[in-house]
Amino acid sequence: MGIPLASESRLASLEKRTPTIATLCSHSSLQIFHGARAVGFPTLGISVGPPPKFYDAFPLARPDRFLSVPRAKDLPSAAEKLRAEGAIVIPHGSFVEYVGAQTFADLDVPVFGNRAVLAWESDREKEREWLESAGVLMPRRYENPSEVDGPVIVKYYGAKGGKGFFLAKNREALEGFTPSGPHVIQEYVLGTRYYMHFFYSPLSDRGYRVGHGSLELLGMDRRDEANIDELYKLGAEEELLKAGIRPTFVVTGNVPVILRESLLPSAFDVAARIVERSIELFGGMVGPFCVEGIMTERLEFKVFEVSTRIVAGTNLFISGSPYSDLLEPGLSTGKRIAQEIERGRSEHRLAEILS
Ligand code: AMP
Repeated sequence: MGIPLASESRLASLEKRTPTIATLCSHSSLQIFHGARAVGFPTLGISVGPPPKFYDAFPLARPDRFLSVPRAKDLPSAAEKLRAEGAIVIPHGSFVEYVGAQTFADLDVPVFGNRAVLAWESDREKEREWLESAGVLMPRRYENPSEVDGPVIVKYYGAKGGKGFFLAKNREALEGFTPSGPHVIQEYVLGTRYYMHFFYSPLSDRGYRVGHGSLELLGMDRRDEANIDELYKLGAEEELLKAGIRPTFVVTGNVPVILRESLLPSAFDVAARIVERSIELFGGMVGPFCVEGIMTERLEFKVFEVSTRIVAGTNLFISGSPYSDLLEPGLSTGKRIAQEIERGRSEHRLAEILS
């Protein structure tokens, strides 16, 4: 409990009729529709403009029906139709970005997960407050450039895909840099990146117990990021800057990874702390979230970001991952979301997982 609830009468009606699983046609929608269908839910694709043709190429993941809106921001105008369909909206990584945080927060349609997480995730200061107070190790933040004693990454607020992030090898390299807007100076962590796909179920009473529910690990990926991933082939940074080439971190794809098995206990510990603190701060995250960080050579995991909904890296595992297969063969995050909704309905506990 503790989530700002969708109205009781609305939840009751979702128990009486079979709800429709709806999401915006983008990001991980194929996986969400595929998973919903596997559990037996009808599906609805919300498209911006006419339905995208690419769904025709994937018949097992094509939504049963489409609802078109002129722009993503016009979603509220479709709220009545969505309610009439008995829709439960599944937010994904692009959803909030396209629809807008305020529009999403105010959307008068039941949404899977706790919308209160938005305020804590979208603001880097609040996110740090959440994670640090949970006892999670994060890259050091420098208040003043004079404190810098190693490589740093300068991040601009709201920069999409790490656009314009500045890397400096040391304090001297930072001194020659004039930031162009609000930013943070962060320790540049040397190590290996992991994007861990967890799922917190407040309904489950078995498995790895956290809070009143349980924590599951469904997969893991690493993001391909242009142009940083290939930049090393061109040589030293000074030379690149002279040539007018600046590093960017625009995600272009994902590759599957696994973690050394001996590191799994600390991965679970970090994720469990994040969940437990979320329960104290805002009633708890529900469903999929991704812990994004860097494992150093000292085997310390430093978290630079938490994404609190389904991330695109889970698309690697539509037919299961080396982790989710140990929960249920072939289990995807999309299917796991649908299972949670089905369980919430059958146990009259939708109030704990929808907002
Ligand atoms: P973010 O916008 O925080 O998700 O960061 C975008 C990308 O920048 C990440 O996917 C990483 O590749 C890289 N990155 C972010 N923070 C750090 C850090 N503290 N040290 C090294 N790389 C980082």
